[in-house]
This record gives sequence, C-alpha cells and structure tokens, in this order.
Amino acid sequence: MNAQSPFPETDQSKGLAITNGMSVDVEDWFQVGAFENVIARDDWDSIRLRVEDNVVRILDMFAETGVSATFFTLGWVAERHPALIRRIAEAGHEIASHGYDHARVFTFDRKGFAEDVKLARSILEDASGQRVAGYRAPSFSIDQRTPWAFIELAEQGYAYSSSVAPVAHDHYGWREAPRFAFHPLADSNLVEIPVTTATLGQKRLAAGGGGFFRVLPYTFSRWAIRQVNQRDGRPAVFYFHPWEIDADQPRVPNAPMRSKLRHYTNLDRMEGKLRGLLHEFQWGRMDALARHEAKRTVPFDEVVRGEELAA
Ligand SMILES: [Zn+2]
Repeated sequence: MNAQSPFPETDQSKGLAITNGMSVDVEDWFQVGAFENVIARDDWDSIRLRVEDNVVRILDMFAETGVSATFFTLGWVAERHPALIRRIAEAGHEIASHGYDHARVFTFDRKGFAEDVKLARSILEDASGQRVAGYRAPSFSIDQRTPWAFIELAEQGYAYSSSVAPVAHDHYGWREAPRFAFHPLADSNLVEIPVTTATLGQKRLAAGGGGFFRVLPYTFSRWAIRQVNQRDGRPAVFYFHPWEIDADQPRVPNAPMRSKLRHYTNLDRMEGKLRGLLHEFQWGRMDALARHEAKRTVPFDEVVRGEELAA
C-alpha cells in the first residue's frame, strides 16, 4: 500500500466475497457538465489533453492493487488516443461506451441518441479490438424523460447499461428508479445497473463515487459500501474520473463558484483515498457484475411496486 495512505490495510470486507463494480468514466477535465457554459465545445481541440497521463496512472494503480475495472470511454477521447484504449484492453480491463462527446441523453431525440451510441461504439471497438457490451450515459442522463433510450440500447445489442442515478440531485437523478439491477424492458435481457446509493431512514444518498467520494470523508464511502454489501447483500458500483487525480490541471477562473468547489476540492488527496478503497473492498469489471446481477434481476414495474421509494 502507498506509504502516504492514511488507511490501514484491513481486509475484513473481502471476507464478504462480494465483488463490487469499479469503473472509470474516461473524459478530460474540460468535458464535464460543470464547465459546459464556460468552455465551448468548438474549443476542445485547442486544449492540451491530460487524460492519457492520468489514465496511465490509474492503470498503474489498478495493476498494483490487482483490480480489473471497466473504462466507460468517450468516443471523442478514443479517436485521439487509440493506443491508450488498446493498452487499457490489453491490461485486462473492459472498454465500454460513455457516448461520443458527453452530450447528455435527454438532449437528444431517439434518432440522435442512436447515432451517438453507434458512432462511439465503432470507434471504441476499432481502437480496443474488443466488443463493447456496456454503456454509461454522460452524467447518468437516462431518466423518465428518455423512455426510448433503453429500447435503443437493447436494439443495438448492448448487454448492460449503468446510466441511472436513483437519487434526487441538482444535475441528474431518477429517484423513482430501483436501487439495484433491473430489467428496464419486458422483452429484452438488457440489464441496468444503477450507480450505488446508501439509505439513511427514508432518504437515498449518492454513494457511488464522483464528487461525493472526493469531497466527503473516506469513512462515509466505507460506511455506504459496507451497508450495501452487508445489509443489502448486493455489489456496490463505484465510478471516478481521470481528472479527479490530476491536482495540476488548469483552473477555469470564470466557472460558477459551486462548480469550482465541486471540481477542485481534494484533488490532491484523491489517489490516496482511491488506494484505500481498492485495498479495502473487492472490485471487478462491470460486465462480470452485470452477468451476475442479471440472475437476480426483476422487471422494473415489479421492483417499483415492491420497494419503498425515497422520500
Ligand atoms: Zn462523464
């Protein structure tokens, strides 16, 4: 374990034998929703990319801790770094889709979404030499506004999606959705694996990573993942971004204060925190988790009827 890490090497959770899903959403620092109004899409090609160096650090970290993971990657990034995509795949990780250029699903109509998903997939499959079976919507943007999204993913032959945040949040969220794997369509085997939430009384708390993991104390994430593994008996789904371990990334001075607070807090501590998480719990690829969870999955309407919804 990294000498800088404040977390003791307790492996007690591994005794649970639940393999959680580890995922990286591969996009660069300027492609996030928080900066969409201050960095124009047309300017992307004039910005020096940092994503490759950060992904290489992540690959090293996964190799050191023996973790296999899923890299939900933008087609836009794969177009510019095909060798990196191949390297990720050859290290035993899964390459899955994060769409072409991070446009959120609810900004498309069905036809536009179909084209985006198709384009990203062909770029990712060419670069990786692997079939792409998984999809994660940018900013978890599949929700009640996009009933055609799952139909389209099923028609394009995807095995699973991990595109729903079953929680109320200011940027995203579909709080009526089930907390655990479900079949969104009656006539398809497509599985949706929502990002992890913990519960506190009637409330659902986002606990699957991203800014929450970086900003809140590590003990919150440990509590949440243990709750999901031990009380619920289910795997957790965790995600983070390459830019979250990049403390030296350029600062965007004219971004909204709240976006800046979220984006820049604790970047320098992220890697140590992640190493603690990788050591403490057992992690694997999302395609394996989806296959496993599919066996216990029930249709969406059954889950919604049977489960008390968040307040
Ligand atoms: Zn993203």
